[in-house]
Amino acid sequence: MINVLFSARSDLWPDYEAPLRRAFKRKGLEYNLATEMSPEQVDFIIYAPNGPVTDLAPYTNAKAVLSLWAGVEQIVTNPTLTQPLCRMVDHGLTEGMVEWVTGHALRHHLGMDAHILGQDGIWREGAPPLARDRKVAVLGLGALGTACARQLASLNFDVHGWARSLKSVEGVSCHSGEAGLRAALDGADILVLLLPDTPATENLMDAEKLGWLAPGAAVINPGRGPLIDDAALLAALDGPLGHATLDVFRVEPLPAGHPFWAHPKVTVTPHIASETRVTTASDVIAENIRRGVAGEPLLHLVDREAGY
Ligand code: NAP
Repeated sequence: MINVLFSARSDLWPDYEAPLRRAFKRKGLEYNLATEMSPEQVDFIIYAPNGPVTDLAPYTNAKAVLSLWAGVEQIVTNPTLTQPLCRMVDHGLTEGMVEWVTGHALRHHLGMDAHILGQDGIWREGAPPLARDRKVAVLGLGALGTACARQLASLNFDVHGWARSLKSVEGVSCHSGEAGLRAALDGADILVLLLPDTPATENLMDAEKLGWLAPGAAVINPGRGPLIDDAALLAALDGPLGHATLDVFRVEPLPAGHPFWAHPKVTVTPHIASETRVTTASDVIAENIRRGVAGEPLLHLVDREAGY
């Protein structure tokens, strides 16, 4: 019998219980799944922030902590975590992110606001350029960044991707390293941030790098708030930067009165770019438990040193 503890916000349990049970059954697992268990009996912990488990030290027999979230900055820095940690790669979550990023990129590319908001009797002539004439930089070419880069490339955008290791993605000019970052950002009309929040990515988009973008560029950040130096972003928006569409923030919910709320060149969305989808994510969790039990390598293991 495999003992699986579900430790996430209590309101998620009714959503997850039945899909997890179905997914475990499909994998032929003999299991006990509950929201409470004596720690030493637990074999696997399904984890999301704001659940009951914060101290992982008593879970001495746990074979892995399985995150429901793709971003693991809150758990990877927990000093009591000694168990292997797997992040969430869920094709439902990826699909949602591709839709959100594509929608917001097209908004800026097509200049939709001028026609949606500006119903002011002015006949604004001039079609937007073609996507092939717009440079898009996607920072982070992991599960989400690669899928978004591919989709944007399929629309003919001139897509440049950047990651720690050099990637090969069809239709996307891939870069890595400092010089690669400059090559990706230089003159970009649209910037999409899909990097994790780690010490190496904090404030990556500072005043200098925001200055490498094309005048009028749009920054789209569904990654994490700390990727951008907020003060530098506000200063850039007072200058040549065209717009910032921000889904994630250093403090969430974004406090009322934060300058982003009222800024005419900022769109705030409340961390809804995408989310883990219960059914597809349950399959990922079940597969990792099957692997753990069978002694096979776990999927989506987090590199503790790199922080993602
Ligand atoms: P992932 O598969 O781990 O990919 C991360 C990418 O970032 C990889 O390409 C990695 O490079 C690159 N990277 C990491 N550190 C770097 C550095 N210092 N310099 C250059 N590149 C670096 O993650 P994912 O699943 O695509 O998710 C990305 C992020 O999206 C998550 O961490 C989370 O913060 C965010 N997210 C947001 C939402 C939302 O609703 N807003 C939802 C889900 C996720 P390598 O490929 O070389 O390792």
